[in-house]
Amino acid sequence: MFMLCRLSSLLFAALACSAITPSALAQEVPIRITADLSDAPRKLYHAEIDLPVSPGPLTLITPQWIPGTHMPMGPAEDITGVVFTAAGMPLDWRRDDVNLYEFHVTIPAGVMTLHAHLDCIVTTRVTQKMAVLEWEKLLLYPAMTPVRDIPIEASVIVPSGWGIGTALTPIGSAPYPVPAAGSATRFETTNVEQLEDSPLITGQYFREFPLAPTIAPKHCLDVVSDYPEDLDLRPAVLAEVANLVREADALYASHHYHVYHFLLTLSDIAGGEGLEHGQSSDNGVKEKGFSDDAHQLPNADLLSHEFTHSWNGKYRRPVGLYQPDFATAQQGALLWVYEGMTQYLGNVLAARSGLKTQALYRDLLAMTAADLDNTPGRIWRTTEDTAVTASMLRSDGAAWSNWRRGQDYYYEGEMVWLDADTLIRKLTGDKKSLDDFEKIFLGKGGNTGPLIVPYTFNELVADLNQVVSYDWSTFLHDRIDEINLHVDLGGIERGGYKLVYREMATAGERTMDESSEWRPAEFNCWYSIGLRVGSDGHIIDVRWNGPSDKARLAPGYKIIAVNGEIYSNDVLKRAIHNTKGQKEPIHLIVQADNFVRTAEIDYHNGERYPALERVQGTPDYLDEITRPLTTPERVPDEPKKDSD
Ligand SMILES: [Zn+2]
Repeated sequence: MFMLCRLSSLLFAALACSAITPSALAQEVPIRITADLSDAPRKLYHAEIDLPVSPGPLTLITPQWIPGTHMPMGPAEDITGVVFTAAGMPLDWRRDDVNLYEFHVTIPAGVMTLHAHLDCIVTTRVTQKMAVLEWEKLLLYPAMTPVRDIPIEASVIVPSGWGIGTALTPIGSAPYPVPAAGSATRFETTNVEQLEDSPLITGQYFREFPLAPTIAPKHCLDVVSDYPEDLDLRPAVLAEVANLVREADALYASHHYHVYHFLLTLSDIAGGEGLEHGQSSDNGVKEKGFSDDAHQLPNADLLSHEFTHSWNGKYRRPVGLYQPDFATAQQGALLWVYEGMTQYLGNVLAARSGLKTQALYRDLLAMTAADLDNTPGRIWRTTEDTAVTASMLRSDGAAWSNWRRGQDYYYEGEMVWLDADTLIRKLTGDKKSLDDFEKIFLGKGGNTGPLIVPYTFNELVADLNQVVSYDWSTFLHDRIDEINLHVDLGGIERGGYKLVYREMATAGERTMDESSEWRPAEFNCWYSIGLRVGSDGHIIDVRWNGPSDKARLAPGYKIIAVNGEIYSNDVLKRAIHNTKGQKEPIHLIVQADNFVRTAEIDYHNGERYPALERVQGTPDYLDEITRPLTTPERVPDEPKKDSD
């Protein structure tokens, strides 16, 4: 373990300012891996792996720190049925006592190829009709070797008749994307780093939609679904995703892939997903996730966010988040760039592409700003600390999450980059914008294939100064590394709007509540009495130091009655509405564990929901930012509704 750390720090010293390319591969004979997904509907993947070896002790390893997940979530505990054989004879193996991802074997004299069989128990992103293969579930390779230096040739066997979507290049004239029953589809040799970064979706109901054919290289949207009718994506959605390709091309003016595949699963069973890769992205929404504008809104920035990561996160990666192996811990301090700037650009691109309207963009931005501003944990914890502790916070629960803070580096980052964008526009008399910075920062080196170029904070500041001279270091440090009692509203206000609270939720907030994808319907009275409540009265979270906190309510309690009426979201909503100008508190009966008690919320200000209000006579940068840069493809559906 110590040697691994030393290895990575030495490599950083050598590579911090240079591109990391799959250079001369240290090992010439590739590992050969065949992933067999025939049993996917039974939640089992199988692998047969041939590894080039030489006699003597050998340590093999499976991935632990998976890029993009920002936490050590390699599936070692799900890998089962491990058998090593050499020349047809089984070999003993022993797991490492400290690094549980490592297997030790001793290769007998004369043996040049080690065969490994393993299975992986896979319970998410797989149904009776589809499967997602993330290669780390089946990978095994020599430890202590940079993964970009290990060549590997992969094949896959999928259930009969299932189509395949992936950025991997099939060899020769393989029947693709629907292979012959039982046959293996072989892919061109790559390296372990790239194979891990190239997931594959397969399904009985599969379609591949080409996108924006005038934009090179090739982009396509690969879809699998549990039911055939869900494959028929609306023409409007396809036009908007094609717009996204054009808008990204105009914004970044570069690409770092040979081909790009948006991989999309539509399933109520497979689970949600959004994971970036250099040449593809793995996106999972519910069956009806793009079936109409309302269902689409919570997913509107999914594809644009993950696509942006091909530039910001995959090509340009904070130096601490790049490790030459998948064993060394990633360091998240710059995640407010990796994720925060992607959050900003993903939402901007979604609006520019028509995946959501400009008005809905503003409604959702108001929700983000208000949520952050009403997160009391900001009085003890910096945004940078949420990034440093990302691997802990990614699995946190809802209870008191506003006091702990969650993965705020996403949304605080979004607000900071909006601030920077509007500041550049103001400083340059609207001649330049963050778009110019992106072309420098993300387009360095021009068009490339998949490549990782690490960066430091200082490079970020230097590139911002290329656009317009300013004390960007202080600008960023003040907003990220310092305690800030309030969210950064500089971008909204310089953008010509102000954050206000109204008695009625915006159209965007109402749509988000009604179409919330993976969480049960909840009533958000966060900005009035300081509660998030499930439809059954279950308290999801209580705003620290808010009216409900002062009434001694807690996450996990269940509201049984409100002012003498049995709980429903409507009953509580009406009670809050009626508080305005009244002296009487809201009377609750609550269940706490096995006990029942009363509580009184001393609140008298009615309903409050966030919105952005235009400040007349100021530059409208916010709408300028979300205006398309290219001519949008005609959208055959009805125009999107953004208010009523
Ligand atoms: Zn992301």
